[in-house]
Amino acid sequence: MEMAQLGPGQRSAALEAMAATEHQVVVVGGGVVGAGIALDAATRGLTVGLVEARDFAAGTSSRSSKLIHGGLRYLEQLNFGLVREALTERSLLLRLIAPHLVRPVSFLFPLTHRVWERAYVGAGVGLYDTLALSLGQPRGLPAHRHLTRRGALRLAPALSRTAFTGAVQYWDALVDDARFVLTLVRTAATYGAHVASRAQVVGFLREGARVTGVRVRDLETGADTEIRAQQVVNATGVWTDDIQALVGGRGMINVRPSKGVHLLVPHDRIHSSTGIITRTPVSVLFVIPWGRHWIIGTTDTDWSLDKADPAASRADIDYLLGRVNAVLAVPLTHDDVEGVYAGLRPLLSGESDVTSRLSREHVVAQPVPGLVMIAGGKYTTYRVMARDAVDAVAHSLDGKVPPSCTDAVPLAGADGYPALWNSRARLAAASGLHVARIEHLLRRFGSLAEEVLALISSRADLGRPLSGADDYLRAEVVYACTHEGARHLDDVLARRTHVSIETADRGVSAAAQTAELMAGALGWDAGQTAREIEYYSKHIEAERASQEMESDMAADAIRLGAPEIVPAADSVR
Ligand SMILES: Cc1cc2nc3c(=O)[nH]c(=O)nc-3n(C[C@H](O)[C@H](O)[C@H](O)COP(=O)(O)OP(=O)(O)OC[C@H]3O[C@@H](n4cnc5c(N)ncnc54)[C@H](O)[C@@H]3O)c2cc1C
Repeated sequence: MEMAQLGPGQRSAALEAMAATEHQVVVVGGGVVGAGIALDAATRGLTVGLVEARDFAAGTSSRSSKLIHGGLRYLEQLNFGLVREALTERSLLLRLIAPHLVRPVSFLFPLTHRVWERAYVGAGVGLYDTLALSLGQPRGLPAHRHLTRRGALRLAPALSRTAFTGAVQYWDALVDDARFVLTLVRTAATYGAHVASRAQVVGFLREGARVTGVRVRDLETGADTEIRAQQVVNATGVWTDDIQALVGGRGMINVRPSKGVHLLVPHDRIHSSTGIITRTPVSVLFVIPWGRHWIIGTTDTDWSLDKADPAASRADIDYLLGRVNAVLAVPLTHDDVEGVYAGLRPLLSGESDVTSRLSREHVVAQPVPGLVMIAGGKYTTYRVMARDAVDAVAHSLDGKVPPSCTDAVPLAGADGYPALWNSRARLAAASGLHVARIEHLLRRFGSLAEEVLALISSRADLGRPLSGADDYLRAEVVYACTHEGARHLDDVLARRTHVSIETADRGVSAAAQTAELMAGALGWDAGQTAREIEYYSKHIEAERASQEMESDMAADAIRLGAPEIVPAADSVR
């Protein structure tokens, strides 16, 4: 099956197609949930449109802990159903849906109380593994194991020997969250969905009480278009309240944003061959292996300021350093921190009876005919959320809609991935690239790495590393524009790649070359190219300054001083 190309002309064609004919479903929000809904609906044979106000995954879905996990904490709450559901999804993602983007990761849980804690944690992860096995499929991940202090120190010499008495090691999975969403969007487009970024819903079309479509502003041109739909599905995460305000009447879903901050430190600052998880007074702290870095997170605090780009404060960074240093032999300092990102959890609060809470984590509501709202949940269970939302749509559509089949739909790049992975030495020899580069490409594009390699064979300069961010090849920037819907510098540096959090200067020195490559692919003139670099650099400057501020309020004010290159209308700020 030929995968859809999200090139420069595709977006306007999609907006035109959406405006031209009524679609059965129009989805608002291009995070993991909205993208998952678009794929679920398209693979049931429905006509689908998807509009995203900024870049795909620019909201919470590029700012998570990047774990596909069952949620050990639900075991403590004895919520086995929820853990089973998430472990089923983990297994599907690892094996069939996205083996190129989701991979196993191990965590060491250091114990501080000799007897009861080992029994308690051991029973928890034992049950976790057993639940995974009881799904009737091979687990796909090694089982947990108990370690003495000495055994744990062999795996993680960075741990302070006085901070723990022994450990338990267990396995979960890790995902490149922004790439996963983009891949979902591309797969949905392959099955016929019309998808457009920088297209914001600014109003609803009505026939009496019924919602009959949306008014969409093309943020690149400022033009408004009416898009008609038999059913509109709202999947805007922490913006759910804003959408409810646009619809009018009393909102049915209450979403409370909670801020979570992560730090990135270079891999050599923590000597360990495994991830680490420790308890904090409110939750847990993860140290997660991420290429040449560790991701350390997260915080959990209420947030009522700017939702588009929540700011991390110095207090957030101090908190995380304090927590991780409690278990490390050599403490980390502010100088070790290369990247910082903050995201907002769409937590549900105070639901009214009219919503059907399909699990403890997410809700689906139909406040007026023609509109389905879905909110809450977590990344891991996006597919279940998407299925539940499209089931609600199907219920209201005339005619029979088949059940969800996304448990049998591999995402773009999944088909053929294992065979190509096994052939990486041959691919390296044929392309003249080092095998490590081929592995990097396969882990990011799956079997579509062949398209990137074809680009390199037609233009040798694209096979060179990107200067200022040499983990990536120049071809990846061009491919992001021609195949992956990237339209602005930040799309490439923050989401198609992760240069903005993986380099010490946060992508500033890679910005010029990236913009130049994008200019060639997207037809920018010198003025546009300079503007992109200027906006990006100012954004990073403001981000750094905000991270020196003690309070959320002061950090937010500084961050807002550097506007986005394509600002959204008020309702998405
Ligand atoms: C710190 C943190 C760590 C997390 N870690 C994990 C984890 O490890 N594992 C896990 O399973 N889950 C995790 N989660 C939860 C998970 O990330 C979220 O549940 C999930 O990403 C939410 O996706 P979403 O699609 O609902 O929202 P979003 O990704 O925010 O998508 C909503 C989209 O709607 C768009 N939008 C808003 N208004 C409009 C409009 N008017 N018109 C058009 N578009 C609009 C926004 O721009 C946005 O892109 C974490 C969350 C946080 C914050």
